Amino acid sequence: MTYISTRGTAPILGFGEAMMTGLARDGGLYVPEVVPVMTHPDIAAMAGLPYEAVAFRVMRPYLGSFFADDEFQGLIAKAYAGFHHEARAPLVQLAPGHFLLELFHGPTLAFKDFAMQIIGQMMQAALARTGERITIVGATSGDTGSAAIEAFRGLANVDVFILFPHGRVSDVQRRQMTTPVEGNIHALALDGDFDDCQARVKDMFNDHAFRDGVRLAGVNSINWARVLAQVVYYFYAAVALGAPGRKVSFTVPTGNFGDVFAGYIAKQMGLPIDKLVIATNQNDILDRTLRLGEHRLTGVKPSISPSMDIQVSSNFERALFDAYGRDGRAISALMAELKTGGFKVSQGALESLRATFASGACSEDETLATITRHLTATGELLCPHSAVGVKVAEEQLGATPMITLATAHPAKFPDAVERATGRRPALPPHLADLFDRPERMTRVPNDLATLEALVRDRTARR
Ligand SMILES: *Cc1c(COP(=O)(O)O)cnc(C)c1O
Repeated sequence: MTYISTRGTAPILGFGEAMMTGLARDGGLYVPEVVPVMTHPDIAAMAGLPYEAVAFRVMRPYLGSFFADDEFQGLIAKAYAGFHHEARAPLVQLAPGHFLLELFHGPTLAFKDFAMQIIGQMMQAALARTGERITIVGATSGDTGSAAIEAFRGLANVDVFILFPHGRVSDVQRRQMTTPVEGNIHALALDGDFDDCQARVKDMFNDHAFRDGVRLAGVNSINWARVLAQVVYYFYAAVALGAPGRKVSFTVPTGNFGDVFAGYIAKQMGLPIDKLVIATNQNDILDRTLRLGEHRLTGVKPSISPSMDIQVSSNFERALFDAYGRDGRAISALMAELKTGGFKVSQGALESLRATFASGACSEDETLATITRHLTATGELLCPHSAVGVKVAEEQLGATPMITLATAHPAKFPDAVERATGRRPALPPHLADLFDRPERMTRVPNDLATLEALVRDRTARR
């Protein structure tokens, strides 16, 4: 199994290298050269299996010979042992034909745990073979950072630096990043928004001398292994509702396009998915792109679903790569244009995108109203991101069963939930003392040289 870059000029890599590398050296993202296909009997055989067994069957074809089967099974078992629900990803029914896939039972209460926990296990196993050290640098709109810190805290061979936008993450999200006591964890509050954080991380990866000097590795959703781990729950949920005999649709609250792109891969692998619906908040660049054919940046508007306050949606590049017939040169040109504000999607590419994806946007008022309405109608307390998904899904309901991804636990965003319902959701027991733990973080300017100096200095000291 080999991986190629969406910009066409980076080296072709195997699974282990693609996972450790993150961003390709030509600035592109790694994708499988060929997506493995599962037959209907392969998929039908997943019915009733535990989450871990589905994870093994879905991910195994992508690994080549990087892990032996029994070693990989052990890593999967460890990755999901810390989840607080036997089903890992339970499916609950909201209405006739509408289901919610609860992806927030992991240690940090957001779906990011599904990928980050297994990546932590896989990277640790890979580093233990050679004794190498790596430096992980990641940008977060709140949930990736906490999930990465949880997955890597205390590991001997890894330093983790997480950049988050100062003042723009929820108190729970910030405390999950600033309260771990382990010395290999560095929470950096950057003066800027999430797009600034993400841009500085990309700059660090594109500075090859720095990148090689500190042995930089990435765990943002640009990392192929993260996308791969998320493909699993599409199979798990669809099979629970009767796939492959019955088609299903999915609606995915979207920011960086990683989660919904995993659904696209599931479909490429042969899972019978009817509609794949992109749900955005008021930062609606992806909805506008699908409707108008123009991918145009307008600046981030902070919202009550902050993990989706994104304009530069990195993984969309992977979808564009396929929509443009895997033409790396065309993608490089589009990404250069994006730096100057945006680009027009070609007619052929737009038709190709519309054949797979539908879309919708949800305003702040609609988000709050959806949380309020669902508590009464179904007893389900939705986080604001999940509410965005549910609202957009309701506009797309039809004969095919719809599964909306619930991406975070309501207690991770208590202010918005309280505004909508008058009820302040309690943190689950394993996080009950979060507000009593001391915080530790470093304020940093939005400046590449300062950030690189800080990373160099702290990793040299260890
Ligand atoms: C990260 C995140 C999203 C967006 O996921 P992408 O893969 O970036 O599209 C949505 N909801 C929550 C709660 C998140 O943490």
